[in-house]
Amino acid sequence: MPKRWFLLVLVLFCFLLTGFRWGFFAHKKINRLAVFTLPATMAGFYKKNLEYITEAAVNPDRRRYAIPEEAPRHYIDLDDYGDSAIFKLPRYWNQAVEKFGEDSLNAHGILPWHIQRVYFQLKEAFLLNDPDRILRISADLGHYVADAHVPLHTTKNYDGQLTNQVGIHGFWESRLPELFYEQYDFYVGPATYLPNVQLAVWEIVKQSHLAVDSVLYFEQQLATENDRFNFETKGRQTVKVYGQEYSQKYHTRLNGMVERMFRNSIKRTGDIWYTAWVDAGQPDLKKLIDYKPTEEELEKRKQELLLWREQNVKPRSHEATEN
Ligand SMILES: [Zn+2]
Repeated sequence: MPKRWFLLVLVLFCFLLTGFRWGFFAHKKINRLAVFTLPATMAGFYKKNLEYITEAAVNPDRRRYAIPEEAPRHYIDLDDYGDSAIFKLPRYWNQAVEKFGEDSLNAHGILPWHIQRVYFQLKEAFLLNDPDRILRISADLGHYVADAHVPLHTTKNYDGQLTNQVGIHGFWESRLPELFYEQYDFYVGPATYLPNVQLAVWEIVKQSHLAVDSVLYFEQQLATENDRFNFETKGRQTVKVYGQEYSQKYHTRLNGMVERMFRNSIKRTGDIWYTAWVDAGQPDLKKLIDYKPTEEELEKRKQELLLWREQNVKPRSHEATEN
């Protein structure tokens, strides 16, 4: 095959693997930039594995197509619990199970408790000095932390389906960052230690949930005076998208909210990685610097990339749809 064709096929193949939508873009960028918040003692190892940490940022979304338990880890429908749920819900998993039972919790989403669970797994991976696990779990953790910063991951009206705004989920978290990220300031400073990860995560979810009304209301208002959609050509396809001007107006009304979400996601991902490492007794990551994934590990990673094809599970609308 001539070299040019080979390259073209390769590019197409990568495109198919990595997905068509920009939701993936935000997750990858957040994991990647979180590495640069880490202290030098950790950063060497993470930077050496920067490509993996970046690419694997979307593995949890891929798993949603293959594993039924995966979906509820990405959201929490706080409004299902009635008024002021964000202030009243039990902060710790065991207390929550006692009060509501595991099935009921899973039915409404378990995002904040799941982040705490993954933090524990990461701490354990550091204690074991297991590079495969450290990388895999760090990448997962970044994903869930980023999801917690998205207001529409904290409500049952997650895609505006209850208010005639279907599509707003992808609009807010994919289309807007795609259009405006170049204007964002991604410097968030160094990672800091969190004395209580679980409470810090609830604080994130609280801030996100308090923003739900604005996310929905501003868009609703705008739609009464403006056309939402335009057609854009992407390659050979013509697709219906939220128009540029419309997006600009919405972005302006949100008054920096998307950028803040992005920045806080980067900062908090770095913070929780760092906290897990400190809580594991600050193991020497320099020893892992020559780490290379085994054949077995590489095969595992390949399989993870393909998980979304399985389609055993039909997850609900979410940012990173690959098909
Ligand atoms: Zn997700």
